[in-house]
Amino acid sequence: MLQAQEILSKLVSFPILGGEGNLEIIDYIENFLSERDVASVRVYNKEKNKASLHARIGPAVDGGVILSGHTDVVPVEGQEWVTEPFELIEKEDGKLYARGSADMKGFIACCLANVGYLKSLNLSKPIYFAFSYDEEIGCLGAPDLVKAINQYYNEKPKFAIIGEPSMMKPTNGQKGICIYETSVNGSAGHSSRIKQEVSAVHESMRLVLWLENKMNSLIDKGHVDHRFTPPHTSIHIGKIDGGIAPNVIADKCVFTWDVRSIPADKPEDVLAEFESYSKEREEELRAIYPGFKIETKAYHPAVPSLDTPENAEIVGLIRELTGIKELDTVAYAAEAGQFAEGGFQAIICGPGDIMQAHRANEFISKEQLSMGVDFIKKIGDKLI
Ligand SMILES: [Zn+2]
Repeated sequence: MLQAQEILSKLVSFPILGGEGNLEIIDYIENFLSERDVASVRVYNKEKNKASLHARIGPAVDGGVILSGHTDVVPVEGQEWVTEPFELIEKEDGKLYARGSADMKGFIACCLANVGYLKSLNLSKPIYFAFSYDEEIGCLGAPDLVKAINQYYNEKPKFAIIGEPSMMKPTNGQKGICIYETSVNGSAGHSSRIKQEVSAVHESMRLVLWLENKMNSLIDKGHVDHRFTPPHTSIHIGKIDGGIAPNVIADKCVFTWDVRSIPADKPEDVLAEFESYSKEREEELRAIYPGFKIETKAYHPAVPSLDTPENAEIVGLIRELTGIKELDTVAYAAEAGQFAEGGFQAIICGPGDIMQAHRANEFISKEQLSMGVDFIKKIGDKLI
């Protein structure tokens, strides 16, 4: 059996970023599985340059476990890497360095390293692999993958374990996220005419402050969830671009913002209120400039939050397998909420530390990698 480390070193050699075609790594995984007599199914995007892949080991009966991972990684550009980022480098500190080593090819390597073992067991419930693309740019591949799993198999898997790096801590909560771009179209003119024209910059400032006030009012109304850090929905404007000179009224301004929502709040609700405020402003200012327009579009469909109850069966199972009782939550986006929406009890639990993810000199410790391998072995043992 190929060891997880060797498999990981192959997986990290595919420098596939979120948004890029991933068929090479899918070819590798597909061949790896078929050489071991495991059939897999591709779920293509529309352009057919990317695919997710799912496969089953074990019998076609209800109640199995999905192991989910993503095949894409974030860029290395502008980061100070000491080693070649797309080569797995083992150092004396017991750590394996490469982009994607922790987030989250390490988990995929743990899955693949266990194929022989899982096949050798006489599983009474199946184990599924579900590997996606474009996770890093808004969890874009997962919805189709989840749908495909529900349609392809006659039986219904029960659990989904998303192997994002959590240091093997069971993580039953995840914030939702959505990213928006708002474009404001005003009228141009000499700055002295500010009362006779509509400045896109001035109006954008009002909208930005509305969003900040919205965040604060949610907190004031008691929308807090202390399992998360920070314990509230955050709304943040990260980029703004408008105007050409101090003495010219800006006719265009564009800003981008994100909503990271606790499970009790929905980014779509914030958007709906923002849209109705935008409408009010449009109606008022069209008296001055009839072409005034505020348009907001989402960069990607909202990624749902995860809120698996503490008494759910999956929580008990992961607690038992990891020996860790304490539950964690994360503020980053992951595919867990999408699997939960697909009807599976979902939890995040995987090897490696999220602190290393997306940074220069990302690594996974050999200890974590072997804990990941053991974890999947134990899942198999549990399903005999
Ligand atoms: Zn990830």
